[in-house]
Amino acid sequence: MHDTLHRVFGFRSFRPNQQEIVQALMDGRDLFAVMPTGGGKSLCYQLPAVLLSGTALVVSPLISLMKDQVDGARSNGIRAAFLNSTLDPSAQSAVTQALLSGSLDLLYVAPERFALDYFRDLLRRARISMVVIDEAHCISEWGHDFRPDYLSLSSIVEILPEIPVAAFTATATHLVQRDILQKLRLRDPLVVRASFDRPNLSYEVRFKEKGDQQLTAILKQFSRQAGIIYRTSRKSVNDTAAMLQKKGFRALPYHAGLNDMERQANQEAFIRDEVDIIVATVAFGMGIDKSNVRFVIHADLPRSIESYYQETGRAGRDGEDARCIMLFSQGDIPKVRFFIDAMLDEEERSKALGALSKVVAFASTNVCRRKTLLDHFGELYPQDNCGSCDVCLGLHEVVDCTTEAQMLLSAVVRTDSRFGGAYLVDILTGGDTQKIREFGHDRLKVYGAGKAHGKKFWRQLIDDLLARKAIGRSEGLYPTIFLLDGGVAILKGQERVEVTRVVEKKAAKASRKGDGAAESPADRELFEKLRALRKMLADQQGVPPYVVFSDRSLHEMAALKPRTPDEMLTIAGVGEVKLARYAEAFLEVLNG
Ligand code: ADP
Ligand code: MG
Repeated sequence: MHDTLHRVFGFRSFRPNQQEIVQALMDGRDLFAVMPTGGGKSLCYQLPAVLLSGTALVVSPLISLMKDQVDGARSNGIRAAFLNSTLDPSAQSAVTQALLSGSLDLLYVAPERFALDYFRDLLRRARISMVVIDEAHCISEWGHDFRPDYLSLSSIVEILPEIPVAAFTATATHLVQRDILQKLRLRDPLVVRASFDRPNLSYEVRFKEKGDQQLTAILKQFSRQAGIIYRTSRKSVNDTAAMLQKKGFRALPYHAGLNDMERQANQEAFIRDEVDIIVATVAFGMGIDKSNVRFVIHADLPRSIESYYQETGRAGRDGEDARCIMLFSQGDIPKVRFFIDAMLDEEERSKALGALSKVVAFASTNVCRRKTLLDHFGELYPQDNCGSCDVCLGLHEVVDCTTEAQMLLSAVVRTDSRFGGAYLVDILTGGDTQKIREFGHDRLKVYGAGKAHGKKFWRQLIDDLLARKAIGRSEGLYPTIFLLDGGVAILKGQERVEVTRVVEKKAAKASRKGDGAAESPADRELFEKLRALRKMLADQQGVPPYVVFSDRSLHEMAALKPRTPDEMLTIAGVGEVKLARYAEAFLEVLNG
């Protein structure tokens, strides 16, 4: 097993749970494994597929991904093919022949095949080593990607009674787990639940500022790195993508409103490193195997903690550091509420409300983000300090803002609760606007009293006061701010207001750290050269760059500078086939 891990995949050691799973499959046992995205599920079945005689059948829900999966396996010298409706009849029969003659280690198929008599018959005639069901949660109506086609998989244990069945998923709930086990009728399976912690991901929540500046400032830290920006609506996706393009970023939109061709082309451009950024709705991401996504930004509130976890999970599959940044302000909540309130199904509505309040709690409390996420999946994070979320990095400090809060509340009272946040901020910062002059608000005592702070400070304080219910905000097109009981207590000096604020200097330092700053400029330059070579070779072969080598492999090459083929073999991800195929070209760059 270790020898194959090294020779074929070029890896030095197994990741958590992989060895146990591989062993079970080698022993012919049924298996059910929940492992997070990027946990390395493919290796769990590809390695036994290489070692066992016969062909491992892999059921995978997305036809669009099968080719990439097969290319990935082939790049390591594994004999792999796929069978789906995109192949013309002659190509299909070639694959069928290969299967029957026993010259395939791996065959990827779409689930609907199992409903076809000819296919069942074919399986009985072929020599199958095991059946693997990837994204197994698709069989469950309780999951988030139910595919009716998956239901036909429950007959596998009858069609191939002697063959072990292995189901993999990244969806964690116990309800879905029970459902999968029951529907697939697994026989005394080994059940593995891996930790959902993704140690190489860092989590950050930032106060969402108005305008595009904040987003572009963040993106500048990620020059030329791949990332996803999630937004809620199609319109905001289009707007943000257009804005970024105008500012010179290589960005494309992705949402269900684009036609199939454009959507496919944009996804493809992202996977192949032709653009760096994809701005997308939640429609994007299912089954994106691109391993070098370095950041995921939620520019709007995610729908639920589950979806936040899934969406951020698309970062850093290669195990290299990646950052997850959520932009959040209380001002986003009414927009989401508006959509939830419009839901007709009462149960759906209350589910959505519950999910929203959990997301808001995640974003507004000062508990380790990792701990909160894992807790949501029923997992206890053992450490006190995770060392890679904004809370644990101490990027926040507690500041007493009682005086400022009183100023703001008194501005609300003095203007009879008739105005919105932006106008109140103008008054406090002494804005010279026509509206203020017309209302005579420049004569108020609080006018300009808050000049010492910028507008961002005041907007954030409004957010804090909304969150602690010192003030409320009316609904409708022009929401106004009004006082609540909590606010009265603050005005009377009966309650103090302590808020948490980002310590900007520390934050800037921390974000540089996460950005490969440990790498010397020379190594960085070398990495870029290797990356350009990777792109060229990938294009020649019509595969995504990460299929040639992962970012991790390139970083190791840049740091360790192997000079000979033997030294090259010590780099993670360089197995014998990739060595033969690529070592010469990469060594030339490394020795040059
Ligand atoms: P999953 O399907 O669980 O989301 P993948 O199978 O796509 O994850 O694997 C994610 C990444 O981890 C891939 O780039 C893969 O090459 C890498 N990987 C898998 N196993 C190992 C290992 N033992 N050592 C190093 N990298 C690994
Ligand atoms: Mg996978």
